[in-house]
Amino acid sequence: MKTLIFASGNDYKIREVRQLLAGKYAVKGLTDIGCTYDIPETSDTFEGNALLKAQYVVDQYHTDCFAEDTGLEVEALHGAPGVYSARFAGLHKSSADNMALLLERLKDQPNRKARFKTIVALVWEGKTHYFEGIVNGQITETPRGAGTFGYDPLFVPDGYHLTFAEMGSEIKNKISHRGRAIQELLRFLEIQ
Ligand code: IMP
Repeated sequence: MKTLIFASGNDYKIREVRQLLAGKYAVKGLTDIGCTYDIPETSDTFEGNALLKAQYVVDQYHTDCFAEDTGLEVEALHGAPGVYSARFAGLHKSSADNMALLLERLKDQPNRKARFKTIVALVWEGKTHYFEGIVNGQITETPRGAGTFGYDPLFVPDGYHLTFAEMGSEIKNKISHRGRAIQELLRFLEIQ
């Protein structure tokens, strides 16, 4: 089976991407290629951060590579936390802190509309290609579900009653931002 390098050190993301590409590509994360460097995400766009991560691996390891950047955009907060989703509550804060701050900001706010957005950057034979995945949904009043990551316990995708954390990765992958972006990536790779 062919191998793809995914420039991520996030075990949850790697697990989801492995499930999404199962049977088609073997996926190696950063630690699998011996990279323990925490690549700084210094851009203010998803595209910029995704490319920073992929390009770092291309430059250091001389291999084609893809990376992704994801954020939660909340309508009542004018798109925040967006590209700053990981450090919404501060640089070294946890997902629990980020969720607590989000719920506080949305206190007494009836508009709970939000969306997850993922941009995948693929550096392939010296050229960069971008793939986007978006899922619309609602922010819950309290966290629901466990065993996953980030804002999953607060997000109910449109058409569902369960949060991403409650529904499990198999269903999440079918409808999620990351799932959709990776499907686009697959479509591109299939015609190469
Ligand atoms: P990054 O893409 O690793 O920078 O993640 C940005 C922020 O969004 C972090 O707080 C992640 O935990 C969160 N995040 C990324 N992907 C997901 C997801 O699929 N579900 C929930 N939270 C996510």
